Amino acid sequence: MGDAHDPVVAIATAPGRGAVGIVRVSGRGLAALLPALVDAPLKPRHAHYGAFRAADGSAIDHGLALWFPGPASYTGEDVLELQAHGGPVVLQLLLARCLEAAAQLDERTGLPRLPRLRLAEPGEFTLRAYLNDKLDLAQAEAVADLIDASTEAAARSASRSLSGAFSQDVHALRERIVRLRMLVEATLDFPEEEIDFLQRADAHGQLRALSEGLQAVLDRARQGALLREGMQVVLAGQPNVGKSSLLNALAGAELAIVTPVAGTTRDRIAQTIQIQGVPVHVTDTAGLRDEAQASDEVERIGITRSWEAIQAADVVVFLHDLSRRGQADYEAAEASIADSLRRHGLQAQLLHVHNKRDLAPEAPALEGGITLCARQGEGLQALRDVLLERAGWQSLPDGLFIARTRHVEALRRCTAHLALADGHLAQQAQLLDLLAEELRLAHEALGEITGAFSADDLLGEIFSRFCIGK
Ligand code: GDP
Ligand code: ZN
Repeated sequence: MGDAHDPVVAIATAPGRGAVGIVRVSGRGLAALLPALVDAPLKPRHAHYGAFRAADGSAIDHGLALWFPGPASYTGEDVLELQAHGGPVVLQLLLARCLEAAAQLDERTGLPRLPRLRLAEPGEFTLRAYLNDKLDLAQAEAVADLIDASTEAAARSASRSLSGAFSQDVHALRERIVRLRMLVEATLDFPEEEIDFLQRADAHGQLRALSEGLQAVLDRARQGALLREGMQVVLAGQPNVGKSSLLNALAGAELAIVTPVAGTTRDRIAQTIQIQGVPVHVTDTAGLRDEAQASDEVERIGITRSWEAIQAADVVVFLHDLSRRGQADYEAAEASIADSLRRHGLQAQLLHVHNKRDLAPEAPALEGGITLCARQGEGLQALRDVLLERAGWQSLPDGLFIARTRHVEALRRCTAHLALADGHLAQQAQLLDLLAEELRLAHEALGEITGAFSADDLLGEIFSRFCIGK
């Protein structure tokens, strides 16, 4: 990342054409830059309509200028937002003009009151908001998760995390650990009465209540992570068993809003659908054969991709065709697919689904599988329920918040340290030092979530995945 003290500028709106486009500048001492760009003095946090000036005084465009002097701004620094017409050329001109005006300012004053304005890196505005204590780390991550949300439930949960719902839970837990740590540290100072002291304060009860509270937050964070990451489902089965029909039926009206999947080929069709707001990424493998059976290079690549998707899947739906049961060639191909799946060690992920039940009304109830009719869209609910169950989804009564795998892992580590602390407490006396140490580690694990303890490379990793201008 570049120097965190330079003022930065970026086009904040998405590339391409749009009704409105925004150029955003953030930095300290930006007030000096304003007269070069706009005519009227800008009243803080008010919209001003007017011209955006080129160096020769001509208008690049007319639009709204918004001025947020720090620290009452998104980043905590001075922020200027220019809302212009949303064409790529207009916005590039405005961006270039901001850079030019800042450079001229340096020349005119001789002493650069403003460090050189530069282009913002991805997520740099939000990074500054974090560094200036406008947001904690979990909230900053929620900004990106809100932008990237693929279902309404994911978006609403991200919005709750952004407003601090998750952070508050974590903070409340941290406060309780702090109290317990203070108690233990105080006890260490008076070794002769330590056991009495901890017993009177019910250290054990406090620790247990803390673990329960932590468990509740962990459960919700796991759901939140699922809302963010979604689950991977692959449809496997012979040609014509109804994989495409099933994907369409599942998608139905519930197609998620975004379905960008890179590397989609004629052999592999992927879509993101949603079940109760959980994004479900479904990949349709066109048939399924071993690489060795491929008739040409293109097919071989397709098959390799299919197997990659299958290896990464949470659930592999093995789709069967009830209308062809008992036919020799069909059964042989079934056995061959089952064998491949077994050789790839995919037993645990397998879910057997029997399609076209309308064509085999008298088919016996099949053990351990779901029967449905993809064409009419019948029997899908049972499938949806099983998929959610396999994902570990449980609809919790409280409002959800979005979370990341990294948060879930930190909460798990905290849980583990508290369990160790409890063990030391049970053995008392000689282990108080160890107890104190486990509590410290538990405290630190929670701090990683909100960023109270966080390494620079973690920040780089988190913010580099943001879009430019956010
Ligand atoms: P895929 O090759 O596995 O993707 O299979 P398709 O989805 O393309 O379906 C193959 C054929 O089976 C199509 O003609 C579908 O209309 C038909 N089909 C799919 N599901 C059903 C079903 O539940 N009942 C009946 N009768 N036909 C179905
Ligand atoms: Zn198909």
